[in-house]
Amino acid sequence: MIIIMEKTATVENIQAVMDKLKEHGFRAILHEGDVHTVIDALGDKTTLSLNRLEAMEGVSQVKMIREPYRLASRDRKPEDTVIEFDNGVKIGGNNRPVFMVGPCSVEDDYDGLLEVAVAAKELGCQFLRGGAFKPRTSPYDFDGLGEKALQYLQKAGKETGLLVVTELMDASDLELVEKYADVIQIGARNMQNFRLLKAVGKCNKPVVLKRGPASSIKEFLLAAEHIMYNGNEKVILCERGIKGFDSSYTRNVLDISAIPVIKKYSHLPIIVDPSHGTGQRYLIEPMSKAGLVAGADGVMVEVHSNPAKALSDGKQSLSIPQFRDVFAKLNNLIDVLHLEKTNVASQVE
Ligand code: PEP
Ligand code: MN
Repeated sequence: MIIIMEKTATVENIQAVMDKLKEHGFRAILHEGDVHTVIDALGDKTTLSLNRLEAMEGVSQVKMIREPYRLASRDRKPEDTVIEFDNGVKIGGNNRPVFMVGPCSVEDDYDGLLEVAVAAKELGCQFLRGGAFKPRTSPYDFDGLGEKALQYLQKAGKETGLLVVTELMDASDLELVEKYADVIQIGARNMQNFRLLKAVGKCNKPVVLKRGPASSIKEFLLAAEHIMYNGNEKVILCERGIKGFDSSYTRNVLDISAIPVIKKYSHLPIIVDPSHGTGQRYLIEPMSKAGLVAGADGVMVEVHSNPAKALSDGKQSLSIPQFRDVFAKLNNLIDVLHLEKTNVASQVE
């Protein structure tokens, strides 16, 4: 539940509510807003009646949260979460959408990776993505270079000034991945690997959490909740498509509506991944546009120095010249959308 204090509530009033909650075994988190102080209370509601809380001095309202996720919900935190990196890059809120670009898998070709990174940086992208540990449907497929890939990513990231995003598949690799990456990705297949969510919840690097292929929006937000509950509030959601009945033309169904739905119910930033969402190179441009129009805070795109030779997902990867072309079009769209976003924000103010 959420306890909203009166504007006039005193420090003593707030402390008395916190004490009462603790006495009843609640975990209470205090949020001091500009106007109201809000207390998040997580615990067994059967031991403390709402009426008793509402009757306390300085309490304005006690609200039960209908959504089962609490920390991720907009009720708890009405303003957008903005995740900021040491180099000034920001994701979420009214910030310009970011780009996470790179090959599906990091291959044993550092120059190829660097070529993608240099092009991405020149265009104004912020992140280099690439898999070191790859979840593959078949055990016979290339499953990543492991630490060598992490070293390549870090080196290319340093050379270009791009931040590095890479997937963590197993909690036992967390320390290793954390050493090289700026952002830890939890892949779609692991969205409900609760031990893994707990592990990244205990680290302090931002996490890109991809939507499971057969997960509802609620389950997606609850997965984010696991990470947040364990202490890490820096979660970036990623819509990457869900299984549909028709895979004759697309790999997945990219659920564009999930973006505004999540914006309504959660304060977390959300990006769109049209590469895995469609599995088709020619759909990257229209579906990135759709995602941006729907309010995505960024785009994740697979780009390879030579897609025909890629060891994974070549069919959906853009070549560098193709990405340049797509990026220019998306950038024009962002100029228009971003203008709108800032206009709306200034009208509200
Ligand atoms: C990826 O981004 O490399 C990936 C494997 O994506 P997903 O988990 O969405 O399938
Ligand atoms: Mn891929």
